[in-house]
Amino acid sequence: MRALCWMGKTDVRVENVPDPTILNPRDAIVRITSTAICGSDLHLYNGFIPTMQKGDILGHEFMGEVVEVGKEIRNLKVGDRVVVPFPIACGSCFSCEHHLYSVCENSNPNAWMAEKMWGYSPSAIYGYSHLLGGYAGGQAEYARVPYADVGPIKVPDGMSDDQALFLSDIFPTGYMGAENCNIQRGDTVAVWGCGPVGQFAIRSAFLLGAERVIAIDRFSYRLRMAEQGGAETIDYEDTDVHEALKEMTGGRGPDACIDAVGMEAHGLGVVAAYDRAKQAMMLETDRPMALRQAIMACRNGGTVSVIGVYSGFVDKFPMGSVVNRSLTIKAGQAHVHHYLRPLLERIEKGEIDPSFIVTHRLNLDEAPLGYQLFSKKQDECMKVVLKT
Ligand code: NAD
Ligand code: ZN
Ligand code: ZN
Repeated sequence: MRALCWMGKTDVRVENVPDPTILNPRDAIVRITSTAICGSDLHLYNGFIPTMQKGDILGHEFMGEVVEVGKEIRNLKVGDRVVVPFPIACGSCFSCEHHLYSVCENSNPNAWMAEKMWGYSPSAIYGYSHLLGGYAGGQAEYARVPYADVGPIKVPDGMSDDQALFLSDIFPTGYMGAENCNIQRGDTVAVWGCGPVGQFAIRSAFLLGAERVIAIDRFSYRLRMAEQGGAETIDYEDTDVHEALKEMTGGRGPDACIDAVGMEAHGLGVVAAYDRAKQAMMLETDRPMALRQAIMACRNGGTVSVIGVYSGFVDKFPMGSVVNRSLTIKAGQAHVHHYLRPLLERIEKGEIDPSFIVTHRLNLDEAPLGYQLFSKKQDECMKVVLKT
């Protein structure tokens, strides 16, 4: 089959690779019809996640048709159309029983690597380094789906791929980011990053009852989409974000702040140069410019919800601000399985149509171009869907 392979930093290629096969009785094989490129893939593409190997198949946002099932799979049959959540979860460990699917205790065969870096291992993720399991990803014609009795959800007839695909990741991720803000009536939520994850966080904050959402980025086409979602916006290149937020919230600060930027934040001034230099010298794994700002801007007693991905250690973390101002920090890779059914229902009811996010539809063979456009934010690229 054809699959998009990671060959090195900013080098991805579509190659011929062996077809996946059923390895365990709870596996299914899915023929992929649509798959998307995620901001998390950019961290791999730009070489910030360790333990990638040449030839690794990328991709964790995918959907398609079941073409084969292992002998213990009863919930799916050949021909079913499904969306697959990006974390790989067993469904029966302590974490899964508590609906914390992205920290499943059983799916990462390389847990020892993650334990060294993070203390304990989270779940495995499709196409996301050997540290997170070394599973082949879904930017391919076919994928093996382990624990297929737990993850995939059937897509109703009449729901298009573009409407259903983002249940695999960015819709639940944005939604969890907003849910973690514990939004109360009248709340103002600020969102750093107007990429796909930020866009879903903005819309989810409104779905969960926020009165105002203030979105921060520097790309005008992204700020425009945030405005279409009902947000007020700040361009951080021409405005002092902290001062602007203070002024917009009567001097108190937003009730909750969402970091939808993550480890490759862009920034201005001396501290940004410091982070870039330290990250380049491997003295700091992540550049937490947006996170620092989100913490400092949040109102006393408010919540900072981190859904941007960080890989390791950050410098100049404003812990004093967190403690002295009674902030709550919540974070995580999305527990996608937990959100699949309720968010599918919101799509069915017409409360949201996730297809608004798609700007580029390419063939799988054009995936390297898709990575370039999305990474460099060229051609007003917001979200690339690859068709096989
Ligand atoms: P993206 O690269 O399209 O979006 C990031 C946005 O942040 C860009 O628009 C960029 O201009 C903006 N930005 C950069 N620096 C900023 C700053 N200092 N202040 C404000 N905005 C800034 O990526 P995406 O697909 O939207 O993903 C965003 C993050 O979410 C990534 O870190 C990704 O890994 C993460 N993610 C997390 C999960 C999860 O489960 N927690 C799931 C998917 C993606
Ligand atoms: Zn993703
Ligand atoms: Zn589990």
